[in-house]
Amino acid sequence: MRALAIVLAALALGSVATAAPREPTNIFATNMPAPGASLPPVASLDSGVWMKGDLHIHSRHSKDSSNNPVGKIVSLAERVGMDYLCITDHDNHVDGDIAHNTWTDPEFHSDKVLLLWCAEWTTHRGHGTSISAKPYDHQRLYDVRDKRDAVIGQTKRDLGIHLSANHPESGNAFTFSYDIVDSVEVWNSAVWANNAGNIRVWDGLLKSGRRLTGRGGSDSHHGTPDTPAQATSLSYQAPENNVGTPTTWVYAKTRTRQAVVDALTNGRVSIAANPYSPRVEFYADRDGDGRMDMMMGDNARASGKPVTFRVQLTGPNLQPTASYTVRVVKNGGKFQTLTISGAKPEAQFTDTPPADLRTYYRVEVEGPATPYPEVPGSMKLSGTMLGLSNPIYFNYDPKF
Ligand SMILES: [Zn+2]
Ligand SMILES: [Zn+2]
Repeated sequence: MRALAIVLAALALGSVATAAPREPTNIFATNMPAPGASLPPVASLDSGVWMKGDLHIHSRHSKDSSNNPVGKIVSLAERVGMDYLCITDHDNHVDGDIAHNTWTDPEFHSDKVLLLWCAEWTTHRGHGTSISAKPYDHQRLYDVRDKRDAVIGQTKRDLGIHLSANHPESGNAFTFSYDIVDSVEVWNSAVWANNAGNIRVWDGLLKSGRRLTGRGGSDSHHGTPDTPAQATSLSYQAPENNVGTPTTWVYAKTRTRQAVVDALTNGRVSIAANPYSPRVEFYADRDGDGRMDMMMGDNARASGKPVTFRVQLTGPNLQPTASYTVRVVKNGGKFQTLTISGAKPEAQFTDTPPADLRTYYRVEVEGPATPYPEVPGSMKLSGTMLGLSNPIYFNYDPKF
């Protein structure tokens, strides 16, 4: 009896873990075409909405961006069709008082773009981005920057904000515990080639069992330099780096600020080189019924049976005659390379995540760069790098 009770308890625990990921996994329960049918974009079958934005950009309220008015950033974001925007001024440049600087700037307003309440939490142990769907007391986060990590994590939870680690491997590397953050900047600025270290940090965190969202951020500081000295200084960033280089797409349940933040926390996130680049979407069919029942960010118990994964590129700027290279990363290592064409921009692969181990899969896509007419030259900084998905997870602890 005792053995049976243990087995039953284990089964019960198993079913609880399967049924309680952060997001429902069976998101495509209805209206999916039959196996083998040519599939329309999956997003149209679900109740969510893809929304794009930039999560890291500096305005004139940062002392190193004094020539970048809020209105100029907002109007470019509106022109290129951004859905949301995070202006992240350095909080230490205003002694933590973001609330009476960036957020009360008369130009901090848009009828088209959802402006989030954000700041770059700038400390001598590294930088983070605070992200909120509503105003919050940023001064409190600034004031605990030199406290122990447990105090900072509790302050973040008290404030009800999303905290993200910025450029984790850089001159201002993030040296706090990653247990206090909800996401990590894995693609900082248009210069993709500088992000190898950030990706390495991310894969290490994913291997540790954390489901930590990877996101982008242009970290753009200047439209044009104020002075010749700025133009030649190491901290000056080329004008080719601007709103949306890269662009972070989130799959939000509704077109609201809170849904954007929730999607970011839940890993329903895809990063693209610029606002016009194709978006990579990544799905899985866990139960083999031919319908995709997971998307990036989702976590499920592995059954030990094969899982079919689908990668698709979406957007009006796919080049029909071009070929795109998809690198599949499994548990931090190279798993497969797929080639897809612009004419039929999707591919599938199959693998069997072990029933008794944690496993994650994510994809990176390269191909011809997409022009960004408002920011000419950004293509040459991002090169052939087009997009990056968040992982699909198996057997990750939902509480971690
Ligand atoms: Zn920074
Ligand atoms: Zn920054």
